[in-house]
Amino acid sequence: MAMAKVAVLPQIKLPSEKPFELRTVEIPPLVPGAVLGRMVMAGVCGTDVHILHGKVPVRTPAVLGHENVARVEAIGGEEPLYDVTGKLVHIGDLITWLPKSCMQCYNCTILGDQSKCLKRVGYGGWVVPADQHPHLVGGFAEYVWILPGSDLVVLPPDLAPEAVVLGDALRIMVHGLERIGGLEYGDTVVVQGAGAVGLMGAILARDAGAGQVIVIGAPAARLDLAKEYGADAVIDITQVRAPERIQQVLDLTGGRGADVVFECAGVPAAVAEGIEMVRINGKYMIAGHYGDAGTVALNPHVINKKQITITGVWSASNKHFLRGLTLLRKIPLQKLVTHRFPLDQINEALIAAERQETLKAAIVP
Ligand SMILES: [Zn+2]
Ligand SMILES: [Zn+2]
Repeated sequence: MAMAKVAVLPQIKLPSEKPFELRTVEIPPLVPGAVLGRMVMAGVCGTDVHILHGKVPVRTPAVLGHENVARVEAIGGEEPLYDVTGKLVHIGDLITWLPKSCMQCYNCTILGDQSKCLKRVGYGGWVVPADQHPHLVGGFAEYVWILPGSDLVVLPPDLAPEAVVLGDALRIMVHGLERIGGLEYGDTVVVQGAGAVGLMGAILARDAGAGQVIVIGAPAARLDLAKEYGADAVIDITQVRAPERIQQVLDLTGGRGADVVFECAGVPAAVAEGIEMVRINGKYMIAGHYGDAGTVALNPHVINKKQITITGVWSASNKHFLRGLTLLRKIPLQKLVTHRFPLDQINEALIAAERQETLKAAIVP
């Protein structure tokens, strides 16, 4: 019987309490349509940190890891298996798999919005608990057992796995761009937040035709990466206070403010600050509040007077990931994965991610 190492999260605890336990489990035999994947890389997402803080519910005991790349080791049954684009899946292919929407609920069918599916399930904490079949239900493991009917994507062989484990941030921002109706060529875009989502927002804005991209965040190493990836200006929040940050954006935009501001900071105060940076008739998009970080005082007069359009964006549909793949093939994003950890250092990886020592950490089992 083949065995696999897996990092199990028995219950929700803070990263500093080293909550993950490394276990060895039997790999259950495949059923028709199931896939056994040997994990190549799994991204450590900000959501994983939120999970350990109890801000995003999961089904414990859990196997986390939802930004995954694996190589197909075996396919169950005799029938040919296809990915979400109709490509035949072969043994040896590099694959990822996306959260599964039911396509039967109100939000899936009437609203046509997979990202808001009422029965959405994803690997890495949600599909089934780790003590139930098939046990290997997240990316923080040597092997993953992918259920029949999952939304597989066969990756182009020339695509770096680093680019795909960053794809969670990218697909959210592709979705966000869609929700604001895209950019006008030459727009000034301000990005609040220099984490993976913020940097993806900056890179995507540049690629989508922005004339000027301004990234606001910290620490300095992340802002350096932002510049390397095309930000025209960066503002370090540890050096520049909020009123001066607003003034700097106005100075960089002829006193008008930015055409579009992306909130990727996850800090409620960023929203009050950000709407001050938007121009008249400009757009403000909130992407950083996947976890509930609380409330903030806002002045509605600013929104009213400037006729600002405010939009939220939540996760993404398959199409946003698939469209994002085109960027991954154009721009080498490997450098954004700043830290790699073996599976037995999963606790250290989460501590580093929580402390924001990493831009993006990945588990390489
Ligand atoms: Zn994520
Ligand atoms: Zn649904």
